[in-house]
Amino acid sequence: MGGRISLSQMSWVEARDALESGFHTVVFAVGSNEQHGPHLPTSTDSLVGEMLARKVAGKLGNSLQAPTMNVGCSEHHMGFPGTISLKPETLKALVRDYCISLAKHGFRNIVILPSHGGNFEAVREVVSELDQNLRDTKVIAYTDLDGLLNFLHEASSHHGIPAGESGAHAGESETSMVLAIRKDLVNMERAKEGFVGRIDDRIHHVLSQGIKTLTEIGVIGDPRKAEAEKGEEYLELWAEKMASYIRKHAVN
Ligand SMILES: [Zn+2]
Repeated sequence: MGGRISLSQMSWVEARDALESGFHTVVFAVGSNEQHGPHLPTSTDSLVGEMLARKVAGKLGNSLQAPTMNVGCSEHHMGFPGTISLKPETLKALVRDYCISLAKHGFRNIVILPSHGGNFEAVREVVSELDQNLRDTKVIAYTDLDGLLNFLHEASSHHGIPAGESGAHAGESETSMVLAIRKDLVNMERAKEGFVGRIDDRIHHVLSQGIKTLTEIGVIGDPRKAEAEKGEEYLELWAEKMASYIRKHAVN
């Protein structure tokens, strides 16, 4: 195995050996391909999700990482070029088939990490459905979007960044994380302040009415204080939070 945990990089022989030697948990992220302001790539949520899932699988131990789903529910970003969106029903069907395949091979825990706000509800719905239909596999997903945003704002606050700047979309928090993962895809010269007011009560409005109702440039937050070092730290804290959540819910 050589310490590898990426299912996609294994042959079927290695996947079989991993399962037989006790790798009973598989983790994957559900990202998006959607606008993230003028300064970040459309793959932002997928890049972040891929890194998050890798870290979480490593922290859990005896876990593999399955491929990230790179497109999600992004209807609220369709006002911007480059966005590709799935209907919630389509995403649910993909996640359903994906999990049923993994369950057939004998994974006892399937962990789904939505790394894009628009996916949380669809993932929550399909997980509760799978939970009733898969007998020998537990499907676990962290789908508390408000809880996650508060957690990330808290992490930013330790660097003196207010919640409004930390943001909810392409702000300081997310931009720092992409700087940590793929600096070459970030154009900080184009980083501009977006909507920095309170979003707690508005985030669900944005999901239903479109992000342009809040910001013309597609940014919720202010990315200008973003730094790779902070991004490393946010990813690490987020992964730790996910790992401890999963440990509470996983079966052995
Ligand atoms: Zn995002």
